[in-house]
Amino acid sequence: MSKPALNLVPSDLEGQFISVHDYMAQGNEKYYASRDPFGENGDFITAPEVSQMFGEVLGAWCIMRWDQLGRPSPVHLIELGPGRGTMMSDILRVAKKYPNFYSALHVHMVETSPILIDAQRTSLIEFAVPKTWHQNLDKIPHGPTLLLANEFFDALPVEHYIMTALGWQQRGITFVKEQAHFTAREITQSPLLPENLPTAVPGQIYEYNPQLRPIVEKINARLKTAPGSAIIIDYGYTRDTYGETLQAVSAHHKINALQAWGNVDLTAHVNFAAIAQIARAAGITVYGPTTQGKFLRAIGIEERGRHLFESANADDKVDILDAMMRLAADEEMGVLFKVICLSSPDAPVPEGF
Ligand code: SAH
Repeated sequence: MSKPALNLVPSDLEGQFISVHDYMAQGNEKYYASRDPFGENGDFITAPEVSQMFGEVLGAWCIMRWDQLGRPSPVHLIELGPGRGTMMSDILRVAKKYPNFYSALHVHMVETSPILIDAQRTSLIEFAVPKTWHQNLDKIPHGPTLLLANEFFDALPVEHYIMTALGWQQRGITFVKEQAHFTAREITQSPLLPENLPTAVPGQIYEYNPQLRPIVEKINARLKTAPGSAIIIDYGYTRDTYGETLQAVSAHHKINALQAWGNVDLTAHVNFAAIAQIARAAGITVYGPTTQGKFLRAIGIEERGRHLFESANADDKVDILDAMMRLAADEEMGVLFKVICLSSPDAPVPEGF
């Protein structure tokens, strides 16, 4: 990929071809470097921002898992793409009540946006555990691991290939009078397709996330060398398929992905079949994917909600019920979002699966 250029505007690229991958990477680089996009007044709201209950039940899950893994100390608690740090702070608030667990923790935040790193430092300031920020997983010492990634993989850029009468071509974007249009160009090498996909017909698109394999392989390597588990939560699909899912969100609405480049969040659905396949091939045990609704209910979100509800005032009671619906109901985030757990081969079955 060419180096993202934060100051590029459509007129600089007039008439040129940029792959979907570079369009997404450069657009998001600019977008995330310039703002904190989360919350009611931002562009979108993620599960940890909907309610503290999300991070709290994941915190409880981490404690149970740590216990199942033999209470290793230290344990590396790693989060990929932690946004504002809200989920980690909800997890640590729960963890603090379990001194054996809390004192074993080394927290690692993997984040590339300088604005969000600042927000995360502020969110975690009250927690006196070792905390380290990283650009990627490479320098985090191997050892017992609890890794979490919520809405991280959907933010990674995807490549598009389109079947044409001339064979596979790379799909991209060209600006004409500053308006973005989809285009395609010839490629010397066809994409390597999953074996179970039928032969493509012209017009069909194959979407591929090139960072998914290297990141899952790094997680695999950690889970092979020490006891651990990774929980990945995102919107996505569970079978290899043709089609494209590039989408843009601005002010809580989906908008055309070709508009407002650099000022909208560009995402793509996550291929959970690929995550499972890459992990299994390395001898990692895979649980799920299950749905977010089932997973959250299985790990106790209703009990947590009931507890908060009992001690809340009337307004907060409404908010708690509303948040519970948003996180777990089938027609909200409950089914669209999937949860997969990758685990060291000889670890017991985790809660929630
Ligand atoms: N997990 C958070 C934020 C999700 S948004 C939540 O649920 O609220 C995606 C996050 O991933 C942001 O923090 C973004 O800055 C970060 N991110 C995107 N690409 C990244 C990369 N290549 N490496 C590390 N972090 C990345």
